[in-house]
Amino acid sequence: MKIPEISIPIIEIPLEKNIRLFLKREDLIHPHISGNKYWKLFYNINSYLEPKPENPFIITFGGAFSNHIAATAALGKKFQLKVLGIIRGEELQNKFQENPTLKLAHENGMEFRFVTREAYRNKESLTQILQKEFPEALIIPEGGTNDRAVEGIQYMLNSETKSFDYLCTAVGTGGTVAGISKFAEENQQVLGFKVVDDDSLYNRVVELSKRNNCKLIEAHDGGYGKISDENIRFINVFKEKYGIQLDPIYTGKMMKKIFELIDNNYFPDGSKILAFHTGGLQGIFGANERLKKQNRPLINFLP
Ligand SMILES: *Cc1c(COP(=O)(O)O)cnc(C)c1O
Repeated sequence: MKIPEISIPIIEIPLEKNIRLFLKREDLIHPHISGNKYWKLFYNINSYLEPKPENPFIITFGGAFSNHIAATAALGKKFQLKVLGIIRGEELQNKFQENPTLKLAHENGMEFRFVTREAYRNKESLTQILQKEFPEALIIPEGGTNDRAVEGIQYMLNSETKSFDYLCTAVGTGGTVAGISKFAEENQQVLGFKVVDDDSLYNRVVELSKRNNCKLIEAHDGGYGKISDENIRFINVFKEKYGIQLDPIYTGKMMKKIFELIDNNYFPDGSKILAFHTGGLQGIFGANERLKKQNRPLINFLP
């Protein structure tokens, strides 16, 4: 069985300006599969399954709240593939059921191996050891980013996306923005909203895309995974106003920054902007649990 292509709607976010803003709803692909993770896994898994391996087995890496772990587990279930998740943090071994992302991944059939932060950091040697142990397995890196993932992102672009002046996406490992850059039209400017405070990202993106049509904009708002009250307020107001759920780690930070840029007249009059809603909504469960413990306002979320 192959992972299928899916067509995704584009909707307009009405603005009181001479600028048009649209969202491509990759979040609608599946509640537990971040849209971009689907396309990043698309070629990786399909080309692995092409020669019809006898016992398909997928291994990948992630932290406790990882959208990539959630996505790989859900895809594994959908396509009946065995999946092993290498999870950062030994301490989670006996309490992963308390973590909504890991609990859900486990319910979707993912097996886990918990490793120390130090072993996790040393992913190259970990990968070599795992490939020796499971020679037939497909090992996908953290966040799912590799050359095949970048190729898969081309399916987020199509004839409808060609008419936009700006293509916007949130940036974690850089694979998604690299794919958009690689397959964008000559006249399109790609904006990546960095939710990670990492200065090496730009070079990594250019290495993957082989193009220089992309600009990275800081949007981490205190650091990766950090959630400010303002971020929560923005997400809740956005939902009330436009009926669309954003997540606090990626798409909420991107949209908040896009609105700021619009307010500051960053985009010339008449611009047409397309932002990719990459999903990440499964992360809200874990985010709200942390916020509740801190007695902070919660993200309004009805899955
Ligand atoms: C992983 C993820 C991203 C970032 O993708 P990268 O390819 O790692 O840069 C953006 N949005 C969501 C919702 C994600 O889960």
